Amino acid sequence: MKFEKREILLIVGVLLLMVGMMSVLAPIYALVIAILAYFGIKVFVGRKKRQIQKEIGQGICAICGEKISDGKCPRCDLQ
Ligand SMILES: [Zn+2]
Repeated sequence: MKFEKREILLIVGVLLLMVGMMSVLAPIYALVIAILAYFGIKVFVGRKKRQIQKEIGQGICAICGEKISDGKCPRCDLQ
């Protein structure tokens, strides 16, 4: 598993969150919430990244330069 800088920041953030929660919650609950938060953020970021890639992957219209969505140019392919 390759660790990116953002990944390390996320882990540090989650650890700080866990330590903070440990002062008000039982450590086991703090741990569970921290793990859930970690994977929740991972899924959220992964989904967003895929969405951006999908948008970039469809490219722009060769005629007017509009961003292509659903395989069509919103300006040229209005039918
Ligand atoms: Zn177009």
